[in-house]
Amino acid sequence: MKRIICALLCLAMLPILPICGEGAVKVYGGQDNSQMKIALSFDDGPHPRNTERILDILAEYSIKATFFVVGENVEYYSAAAIRAVREGHEIGNHTYTHPHIAKLDRVSLDLEVAKCQETVKRVLGYDMRLFRPPEGVVDDAVKVMAGEQDYSVILWRIDTRDWAGTSSSDICANVSRNIKSGDIILMHDYFSKGCHTVEALEKMIPMLLERGYNFVTVGELIGIEK
Ligand SMILES: [Zn+2]
Repeated sequence: MKRIICALLCLAMLPILPICGEGAVKVYGGQDNSQMKIALSFDDGPHPRNTERILDILAEYSIKATFFVVGENVEYYSAAAIRAVREGHEIGNHTYTHPHIAKLDRVSLDLEVAKCQETVKRVLGYDMRLFRPPEGVVDDAVKVMAGEQDYSVILWRIDTRDWAGTSSSDICANVSRNIKSGDIILMHDYFSKGCHTVEALEKMIPMLLERGYNFVTVGELIGIEK
């Protein structure tokens, strides 16, 4: 019984505290702090239209965010990614083709990560230190890869479910209800028609600024200098 309670407690704490992985690998859902710092993160881009629209909003409020890019999208839509770097945003590795991580063997995972890294370095001149596994899958292969390649593994505490077509008012209500200092918010800049990410962002940012939150990159939130 004691073990069950302990396991439940550990599960409940997963999204709250940085989790020490094997060896030096850390998996972060956020990082508590007393300065009301939070981080916006956008996955799966860059996208020629959506990323640009999001960058426009971030620029309007002078906010820096973190974009976990898919390597092949950086090849296709480099202009949006180049703009993101030029405007001071952070770039993280989200693999080259966005595969199902759980189905990959170690060699394939290493290739996916390395190919994204090589593409981002070549196209953007940027060295990434953060890795977000597709679908948030953190298995032993991810931990070993991250340890060997010196990546911090980044998850999130707040999933806006923007990818599922959640309405902008529901996204804002969810964020408003659950946000706290140190949270990483998951959104997407590559999404299909019918997603309300941009509209949600337009409402969310002023609401959170009003409540005293400070937007920083994930790297700054967890204390990793680029
Ligand atoms: Zn993704």
